[in-house]
Amino acid sequence: MNPPEVRINPDRLLGDLHRLRGFGACGPGVVRQSLTPIDMESRRWLCERMREAGLEARIDGVGTVFGRSPRPGRALLIGSHTDTQPEGGWLDGAMGVIYGLEVARALAECPHTRDFAVDVASWIDEEGRFFGCLGSHSFCGELSDSAYDATDTEGNILRDALREAGLEGAAIERGDPARYIGYAEAHIEQGPWLEHEGKRIGVVTGIVGSRNLTVSVAGQQNHAGTTPMALRRDAGHALVEFAHRVYETFPEHAGERSVWTIGWMHLHPGFESIVPGSAEMNLQFRDQDVAVLDRLEAHAHALAAEANRQDRAQITVERARPPSIPALMDEGLRGHIETAAQRHASGDWVRMPSAAVHDAQVLARHMPASMMFVPSIGGISHAFEEDTAEEDLVLGCQVFATAAAGMLGA
Ligand SMILES: [Zn+2]
Repeated sequence: MNPPEVRINPDRLLGDLHRLRGFGACGPGVVRQSLTPIDMESRRWLCERMREAGLEARIDGVGTVFGRSPRPGRALLIGSHTDTQPEGGWLDGAMGVIYGLEVARALAECPHTRDFAVDVASWIDEEGRFFGCLGSHSFCGELSDSAYDATDTEGNILRDALREAGLEGAAIERGDPARYIGYAEAHIEQGPWLEHEGKRIGVVTGIVGSRNLTVSVAGQQNHAGTTPMALRRDAGHALVEFAHRVYETFPEHAGERSVWTIGWMHLHPGFESIVPGSAEMNLQFRDQDVAVLDRLEAHAHALAAEANRQDRAQITVERARPPSIPALMDEGLRGHIETAAQRHASGDWVRMPSAAVHDAQVLARHMPASMMFVPSIGGISHAFEEDTAEEDLVLGCQVFATAAAGMLGA
């Protein structure tokens, strides 16, 4: 039997996406970091839209907008985020939240699916102004008290920001896994693969994990004019050489889709006439396979040991924070996205891992989770130019709605 026709309303979908874009618009992009006045304004707007869609909506004690279906029975939870990077694109996160809203409306309008329960969430601070994926961690009961002491880059404390946003004392939304058949999140791909392969829908198999290492070098600070080259223990030189070895040798140990990044380097004291006495950089790598992550981490230590045998500056490699664990998506839910993709975009979809972190990674530890991607033009994201073709936005939402109906038993 064919699943019943759930039809999204493309004009309503695009209209809401553009209205949300208006909160913090900056050229083609958006500046709407979590818990800022403009972010709170957009959250109140979203609450209103959810109420119009028949959901019981409120902003919870950490700032997540949560729209709860009043219908009985187990629910599908759909979410993403509406906060942005300091310079963000208009669809990163926002698209998944508005898809959730549109799916809730479309299912309620279809006679075959109107009794299905869909809860919709805009998780606060996915982008980590204070604490990455704050809202989903809180919903899943993974937040310790000390998390509220987290600070942003300007030294503002989360606890104070919540008070200033008027959220002090507001109840915290806590998920009961028994209520849910699972979690579904749609997102822009934020990478070039779909466009490159000529596909329009990505069905996510899993979300990559990452390791973040700090590489520190101890040398001898000295005069840049009087210290002969042969006698220097130049921490900067050792660091740059280590970085070079990373780029040179990581491909031998990496998986097919592994990526690695040196995001920052510091030389101390960082002055033109001083041989640096110490130096530091970060080294981050990501992959869907824990064994590959283990191999790359072991290799970073081996490179340090190799450099230290030369007895100049001494290199140490340490984890900057606990590893983020790869999350596999639920096969059953994934099957519904594949069936829907085949129905609306036959041959134009592909299975793929997610190379970026998403709230689904947190939810996946507590309930079956699934994700779907639409293409990003030029693979550009975390930038004002980020965009997706309008027909891809509409197709993606239709596939997502059909998949949601399937997950709920249609
Ligand atoms: Zn995002």
